[in-house]
Amino acid sequence: MEVKNQVSLAQYNSFSISVNTPLFAEVTTSLALQEVLKDPRFKEALILGGGSNILLLQDLSRPVIKISIPGIRIIAENEQTAIVSAGAGVVWHDLVMWCIVNNLGGIENLSLIPGLVGAAPIQNIGAYGVELSDVFHNVIGIGRKTGDSKIFDAEECNFGYRDSIFKNELKDEYVITTLRLSLTKINHQLHLDYGGISKTLDEMGVTAPTIDDVAKAVIRIRSAKLPDPSKLGNAGSFFKNPVVLTSKAVQIAKEFPDMPAYTVDENFTKIPAGWLIEQAGFKGKVFGNVGMHKNQALVLVNYGDATGTELWEHAQRVMDAVLAKFDIDLEPEVNLIN
Ligand SMILES: Cc1cc2nc3c(=O)[nH]c(=O)nc-3n(C[C@H](O)[C@H](O)[C@H](O)COP(=O)(O)OP(=O)(O)OC[C@H]3O[C@@H](n4cnc5c(N)ncnc54)[C@H](O)[C@@H]3O)c2cc1C
Repeated sequence: MEVKNQVSLAQYNSFSISVNTPLFAEVTTSLALQEVLKDPRFKEALILGGGSNILLLQDLSRPVIKISIPGIRIIAENEQTAIVSAGAGVVWHDLVMWCIVNNLGGIENLSLIPGLVGAAPIQNIGAYGVELSDVFHNVIGIGRKTGDSKIFDAEECNFGYRDSIFKNELKDEYVITTLRLSLTKINHQLHLDYGGISKTLDEMGVTAPTIDDVAKAVIRIRSAKLPDPSKLGNAGSFFKNPVVLTSKAVQIAKEFPDMPAYTVDENFTKIPAGWLIEQAGFKGKVFGNVGMHKNQALVLVNYGDATGTELWEHAQRVMDAVLAKFDIDLEPEVNLIN
């Protein structure tokens, strides 16, 4: 394993922010990871996947360990289901495509989500009515302090909306090396009711959709809607959709009858953060090098050479405006890295 000094992270984060790290190591095996975790210089290291869910605020004083552990294989199967195991360094979308080619159903709605497999359980990635937790079998993590490997089942991961134990009680405690998913071999359960999938399948002339068709529809919708980070720096949805008391949502809806809202349970309602940001007047408005995207107000964009601080200052401007207008606190979905 090669350790490099003074490495620019510009190509390692989807905002394309140009900051440096003093030390950089890339690991391609669990053994190499255990080795580097023992090295005292890497004690406080930032664990980096594809860099599509981080905002780097400034030059790092700590090292970076880039996770590049490869490999996808079936480790168990019966007539109905297969357990697929993938290395943390596999590109998430490559795993989705591998599953489609092998006729394994369950993650087709999660097509084209950027990033690597190892980060997927950290925030329980989700899109178009499906979350990772719906197909999750278990993960293997290596304790950063102990170097021991541990298997976490779904219950232990405590998954929630863009949330897991790895963002809370076990934040920075474990490095994920392997993810295992339980996928269908037959009788795939298609999720077509969300985000215009059915409409897109109609436009594609598909009447009896397969998992491949669903993936193609999702790819089509996402490509039309979301800015490509290789052309315009961004990290997807910058904020979580806030969940508020239903009484509060009802009160807001009196003034804004067109407000979209989704029932969470008998007491709580989810309001799309993109709608709140649009109402606060930020959709498509550019402030110097930064702004919220013109097609998707939830996406914070680096239009030029913005620094992490500029981007974060704009995010705070948006949060303040939404708080002032609706009395709702937006919470970043993206991880802020000092
Ligand atoms: C255009 C765009 C669209 C997006 N759309 C979606 C979407 O639809 N749904 C969604 O859920 N997300 C979406 N995202 C966010 C992002 O793709 C996911 O959060 C993804 O899982 C991040 O993966 P990554 O490898 O880039 O993680 P990174 O950004 O590298 O890391 C994210 C966090 O996880 C930690 N981490 C990374 N790897 C490991 C590991 N192996 N072990 C322990 N900790 C680790 C990091 O330290 C960091 O705190 C989008 C992003 C972009 C740019």
